[in-house]
Amino acid sequence: MWRCGGRQSLGVLRRLNGGSAQPRIWREKSINACEKALQYKVGEKIHGFTVNQVTSVPELFLTAVKLSHDTTGARYLHLAREDTNNLFSVQFRTTPMDSTGVPHILEHTVLCGSERYPCRDPFFKMLNRSLSTFMNAFTASDYTMYPFSTQNPKDFQNLLSVYLDATFFPCLRELDFWQEGWRLEHENPSDPQTPLTFKGVVFNEMKGAFTDNERIFSQHLQNKLLPDHTYSVISGGDPLCIPELSWEQLKQFHATHYHPSNARFFTYGSFPLEQHLKQIHEEALSRFQKIEPSTTVPAQKRWDKPREFHVTCGPDSLATNAAKQTTVSVSFLLPEITDTSEAFALSFLSSLLISGPNSPFYKALIESGLGTDFSPDVGYNGYTKDAYFSIGLQGIEEKDIPTVRDLVDKTIDEVVEKGFEDDCIEALLHKLEIQMKHQSTRFGLDLTSYIAACWNHDGDPVELLQMGNQLSKFRQCLKENPRYLQEKMKQYFQNNRHKLTLSMKPDKKYYEKQTQMETEKLQQKVKSLSQEDKQKIYEKGLELLNQQSNPTDTSCLPALKVSDIEPTMPFTELEVATAAGEVPVQYCAQPTNGIVYFRAFSSLNTLPEELRPYVPLFCSVLTKLGCGILDYRKQAQQIELKTGGMTVSPQVLCDDSHLDAYEQGVLFSSLCLDRNLPDMMHLWNEIFNNPNFEEEEHFKVLVKMAAQELSNGIPDSGHQYASVRASRTLTPAGDLEETFSGMDQVKLMKRIAETSDIKPVLRKLPRIKKHLLTCDHMRCSVNAAPQQMAQAAKELENFLQNVGRSKKERRPVRPHVVEKPVPGGSVGSSRENSSPMIRKLITDPTFKPCQMKTHFQLPFPVNYVAECVRTVPYTDPDHASLKILARLMTSKFLHTEIREKGGAYGGGAKLSYNGIFTLYSYRDPNSIETLQSFGKAVDWAKSGKFTQQDIDEAKLSVFSVVDGPVAPSNKGMNHFLFGLSDEMKQAHREQLFAVSHNQLTAVSQKYLGVGKSTHGLAILGPENAKISKDPSWLIR
Ligand SMILES: [Zn+2]
Repeated sequence: MWRCGGRQSLGVLRRLNGGSAQPRIWREKSINACEKALQYKVGEKIHGFTVNQVTSVPELFLTAVKLSHDTTGARYLHLAREDTNNLFSVQFRTTPMDSTGVPHILEHTVLCGSERYPCRDPFFKMLNRSLSTFMNAFTASDYTMYPFSTQNPKDFQNLLSVYLDATFFPCLRELDFWQEGWRLEHENPSDPQTPLTFKGVVFNEMKGAFTDNERIFSQHLQNKLLPDHTYSVISGGDPLCIPELSWEQLKQFHATHYHPSNARFFTYGSFPLEQHLKQIHEEALSRFQKIEPSTTVPAQKRWDKPREFHVTCGPDSLATNAAKQTTVSVSFLLPEITDTSEAFALSFLSSLLISGPNSPFYKALIESGLGTDFSPDVGYNGYTKDAYFSIGLQGIEEKDIPTVRDLVDKTIDEVVEKGFEDDCIEALLHKLEIQMKHQSTRFGLDLTSYIAACWNHDGDPVELLQMGNQLSKFRQCLKENPRYLQEKMKQYFQNNRHKLTLSMKPDKKYYEKQTQMETEKLQQKVKSLSQEDKQKIYEKGLELLNQQSNPTDTSCLPALKVSDIEPTMPFTELEVATAAGEVPVQYCAQPTNGIVYFRAFSSLNTLPEELRPYVPLFCSVLTKLGCGILDYRKQAQQIELKTGGMTVSPQVLCDDSHLDAYEQGVLFSSLCLDRNLPDMMHLWNEIFNNPNFEEEEHFKVLVKMAAQELSNGIPDSGHQYASVRASRTLTPAGDLEETFSGMDQVKLMKRIAETSDIKPVLRKLPRIKKHLLTCDHMRCSVNAAPQQMAQAAKELENFLQNVGRSKKERRPVRPHVVEKPVPGGSVGSSRENSSPMIRKLITDPTFKPCQMKTHFQLPFPVNYVAECVRTVPYTDPDHASLKILARLMTSKFLHTEIREKGGAYGGGAKLSYNGIFTLYSYRDPNSIETLQSFGKAVDWAKSGKFTQQDIDEAKLSVFSVVDGPVAPSNKGMNHFLFGLSDEMKQAHREQLFAVSHNQLTAVSQKYLGVGKSTHGLAILGPENAKISKDPSWLIR
């Protein structure tokens, strides 16, 4: 995988997302991990390492221990925390000086086999031999990182061993380089008459990555703003430069960069540190001596005058308004990220400038109506050694480039003069407080990503984690100097001559030109080949095909056994009561660090059909248009001052035991600090009772942003759009899924965004409100600390008393409604038999599933392919078998066919909760051929050519998801939304344990064979001659 700039997460303030403290002690009578870590002494020697620093970081509930390795100088940071989801990562500073993608290809190739684990692809094989909660590798602009996490101590050791061996002692075989990097190969490797082409996983991945225009823009931005060293090249690889890389260069890059003296090790969680150190020293570091790695990135020389560039990209995937597709941004180089307090101040300042409708740039740019949304990478970017700030617009007319640039300058001048309102500063400080307290299940991963860039350039990661110190220092500066932020603004923005204006416009012939350049490159390569070279290419192609077709012996790899999986899962205590007479409320007491999570679900059953396509739009604007006496600006400020967010989303919730029954509705979600609950409930009260649907101008702005976001998301989520479409005609819920979250929705939003008169759409909102914002078909849930529950119940009672009820009985639009009581919450539930929670499911007895094949023609050079099959619901024992089968088909067949042989970035099979079995591919150079591979995968499954070992591996892999950690905020959600009790989940786990070889072949015959069940197909991708000729395909 490759990460460009800050695409994954923007800015320090938006990066840190709380933790996942589950105060469960993994070892009996062990003292708390944080306290134990505090007992290390500076200077203490442990397994070849020396302790350099021990720091308590109370704001994140952790203890940081910094060490260094004596003989190699390797750096080490351990964060002890009461979190069972333990994480390891190792990162190397990788600073390429060309765009051949050498660090990225190396990242892929080291995972293809190593000294102790010489089997093919141990990394992917471990996915099936482990209970890991995360395994991956990333190539950033200037470092490469290998993280994994797991809750199981044995598993941790196993994975650590594989990761250490892969990174320090990889085989780096020529064939691995061919497969993962690039190669010349006959289109059909076994037929030397077919033409030679470029193939390779990274080659295709990067071709796919650059179908995303936001990514193209980000890449140019970084290259041009930091033009003097490693940031001027594409670390992931430019498809036109990748074929310049040789196997020798790859090995050389490994020798100089993947050395302990150039490495940073990170561990996180509740497992003891000594064990990690011992293993890392013994299995890797003891075999090295110190070197002086020459990987330091020099500071970027500052410009003496601003610069300007113009670039091109591919046409918008849903080009309708060709005139408004230009992007422009103005960027400023900032100080180095290793200066943590300056970085904190500038990141804070950047958030003030761009976040929410009260920020100066939102007012000046977004509300100017010139464009659709901010330009990519807007705000503070702290991923390169020198940070930068970027601001601009996308979706503008080319002639407006100077206007936008002038608006940016004017806004900066105004801020320098006037500064910010105190309330805006308070709102942002409050947001920081919530982010520190909110717990996610991937806290370790968030932390390692958070410190990676700064640590990579020898900044102090512990200083970075001490957010409390940084905050108080910052508050002090504000207090001592009321013009503190204005002065920063003047220094780094107004007077900064290292300033870049970058604009980008689509070129209709962009992909055509890319293809042409690729063809020229290919011809040039082919021309230079001797007869002998050609023979060698043919033979290597066959050798690779042969290697891919033969199973590899994986017995060298460590593995957990099915017996290592906990036989029973922990149950969650829930209490279900009613409020305001009849509204059911689920209470789940959890250690939430002083945060209350409130949710409500409201049914859509009475909503007229013609309004349904507008529900997602209704949801996305409901909390953003103002309510009661608050206009949208004041409302946004209140939400930021008092809550950690209030969001609304459409839901299609299928039933556990009937494929044709589902619940449709809208979910309201929110969180706040304990002390702010009355204020948050007051805001919900106003939103429910007095929402404002009058602000036409602001509505237009919101619609444009939402539409732009959807269409920008297609290259990343193409496989999801394909599978939603492919399952559209398989169940009654499928049609609604397409309406809410499929390509139909993307196109509808695009149309609305471009319509000249938006009033008729705005007028639909109050009509939807009437059906939705009432108590009639509602249920609520609260997750909070036990001592907060009484207060929460009181607030809820108040809220629900005030929410309206329909005066007349509204009839459901679809007449077939089944009332289904939700089973008792848990073992602790006192009223097992009289649950007040009732789900109103819709069903259509006349529904007949049918086959549909759709091809969405999009101007991409790659495809996203999906084939969906209607199978059985969650409670059916066959569901468990199909779930294991999907995993088995992915790892034992489709991975090889679609990724290794086919060159797609990804592909596999999965069974969703709704009983739809999906075969899919992601960023795939093939389309029809991939559908044939799906067919072969089914034949393979029916033939039963897999072993008990294969089945056990698939079970481990499935359980690592089924038993994955759940954050306190999300406990009990399956019960609340889907009516799934812990007993039902445990029963499902037992079905999973019991799945046998016979059951697997039986379900593949029963459901997946041709003519057995109804299939649906969809492809997103370029024009396709074969599909166009086939009348069974619908082309959109
Ligand atoms: Zn990659």
